[in-house]
Amino acid sequence: MSQLVCIACDAVNRLPAGRDPGAAKCGRCGEKLFRGAPVEVSGAQLEAHRRSTRGTALLLDVWAPWCGPCKAMTPQFAAAAQRLEPQARLLKLNSDAEPQAAAALGVTGIPALFLISDGQVVARTAGLMNAGQIVAWTHQALAAKAA
Ligand SMILES: [Zn+2]
Repeated sequence: MSQLVCIACDAVNRLPAGRDPGAAKCGRCGEKLFRGAPVEVSGAQLEAHRRSTRGTALLLDVWAPWCGPCKAMTPQFAAAAQRLEPQARLLKLNSDAEPQAAAALGVTGIPALFLISDGQVVARTAGLMNAGQIVAWTHQALAAKAA
């Protein structure tokens, strides 16, 4: 079984094993659970995803509007989403708008990437990466966690 938080209405959806999460729709609002794009979240929404997502990793990009490398990474992160979903759900957190959530993660420099599995941060890195590097880093971290 896997469990996902709807990005449109925040409902928690349980999916039976064998069902393709990439094609699944929310049981409450009918929106697709994955849209092939990163999702901007608030600190509270991030907590809901961490608490309720199972069977799919969360890849979080912490950014800020004044950060040049963050802007440069935005299209790269979006391209990575198309290659990583539904193995991972890509989220974005604005550290200026959500300073407490960023501080709770121990963010020191941005852009910062956090890979979260079953609610726990299993890998982190910081600095500008292209889409290929983001995908490779995520696959490597998930493989290391599974080993
Ligand atoms: Zn929904």
